[in-house]
Amino acid sequence: MPDGPVLWISNHLADKIRAHGVETYPHECCGALLGKDHGFAAGAEPKVENHGISREVLGLFPLVNRRDDSPRNRFSVTADDVREAEKAASAQGFDVIGWYHSHPDHPARPSDYDRDHAWPWYSYIIVSVQQRVAQDMTSWRLNDDREAFSAEGIEVRHRAAV
Ligand SMILES: [Zn+2]
Repeated sequence: MPDGPVLWISNHLADKIRAHGVETYPHECCGALLGKDHGFAAGAEPKVENHGISREVLGLFPLVNRRDDSPRNRFSVTADDVREAEKAASAQGFDVIGWYHSHPDHPARPSDYDRDHAWPWYSYIIVSVQQRVAQDMTSWRLNDDREAFSAEGIEVRHRAAV
């Protein structure tokens, strides 16, 4: 079990993120992660009843990448996007727990642009799409000092929600 927080996502939703990245290739896709946060802060012991899972992705809210200038390596989430995503989440009894986007022909690591436009607390899933084929999927959280991201454990598998 990893030391830090672990984000759980089903195979089904992980595949949807990959498919979205393939669909928008060579541009970046982006969307919101809807789900539940179990309040497990970095460094804290995971609760036994949550099986070490700190967050669960239970739904997605795909967004349109509004960056016209550089859609290959930039995405932007507007205030309207945040509001719409939160509306969709609460309608299903979930919260917006993070955001996902793709890196066309780049590794699944956050860029400087990503860091400058991220908010602490949220999980940031990145899927690498190489030559229209989805590859690695990673998750990150921006440190509270906003200087850097920390890798977040990601568990992709079928399992009943906790
Ligand atoms: Zn990025």
